[in-house]
Amino acid sequence: MLIIFVSMELLDGKIVSQAVKEDLTLKIMELQKSGNRIPHLAAILIGENGASETYIASKIKNCAEVGIKSSIVRFEENSSESTVIEAITKMNNDDDIDGILVQFPLPQQIDEQKIINLINPAKDVDGFHPINTGKLIQGIPTFIPATPYGIMLMLEHYNINTSGKHAVVIGRSNIVGRPMSILLSQNSPYGNCTVTVCHSRTINLKEICLQADIIVAALGQPGFLTGDMIKENAIVIDVGINKVKDEQKKSGFSIRGDVAFDEAAAKCSYITPVPGGVGLMTIAALLKNTYNAYLQRKQF
Ligand code: NDP
Repeated sequence: MLIIFVSMELLDGKIVSQAVKEDLTLKIMELQKSGNRIPHLAAILIGENGASETYIASKIKNCAEVGIKSSIVRFEENSSESTVIEAITKMNNDDDIDGILVQFPLPQQIDEQKIINLINPAKDVDGFHPINTGKLIQGIPTFIPATPYGIMLMLEHYNINTSGKHAVVIGRSNIVGRPMSILLSQNSPYGNCTVTVCHSRTINLKEICLQADIIVAALGQPGFLTGDMIKENAIVIDVGINKVKDEQKKSGFSIRGDVAFDEAAAKCSYITPVPGGVGLMTIAALLKNTYNAYLQRKQF
């Protein structure tokens, strides 16, 4: 079958994340030249989860690329909650650390919400602390969770006109769907959308999606958003990172998004690829949050 992509443009995470990183690299070089200390991101990794290892390695590598110092504290899978609490408390009080990142998911003996609540909100570069969530809801500048922040940076880079558009966000998690819906509805340059938030209990999802000018798919189901759910010329943002069996690949699997890319690309005006889209922007946004944390802390 011949698929024709009519005036569809890729929202290219490689290009945009590179631009964000080049900007940060220059700023951090300036800091060094002026004899300042450089921003420092400290990460905590608990247990041996392959995906978490990959994510952390990528974050550390990207920190190095822009000149951000990074460090990692590792704990065994069976570590106690109190051991992790002790490490975070130390990081909260360490003046050399600007950003603290705890890689999720955590082993079941450790309460994720307790850990999130413990991180100093001024160092909460993931933007998960309730204080930062509260600020986000009220439109007060704060750390925005990296994935939605990365998507906003992408909309800004491509100067996408979002004002007055109907955005449908599929997924309502605290790290992606919920903050994304808040950002798109805010009275801000790449907000001002009328937003519908969908989730697993939503009825008539297809009909709702067909009314959308912008769809953000963040549900974690490979190829869920098919061409027949997308209005002509809509903008499609694919957040999904799903590992699917792929016998063609040496590793035995490949990464797929939540969008059936070829079908969607034939219909929409803009689309993010997976890989090479939102994932790269998430890391770029985390670096930006770390730099911003540094700047804010430097003022005290
Ligand atoms: P969660 O599992 O926390 O949330 C998924 C959301 O999707 C829930 O709100 C759920 O509804 C909703 N949902 C699930 N199935 C359906 C369905 N059939 N119809 C409508 N809604 C549905 O996932 P995350 O938000 O953490 O992640 C979503 C995806 O994004 C995953 O693939 C994840 O790997 C990826 N991701 C990618 C990142 C990146 O950097 N690109 C970063 C973070 C995540 P309900 O609330 O009712 O359960």
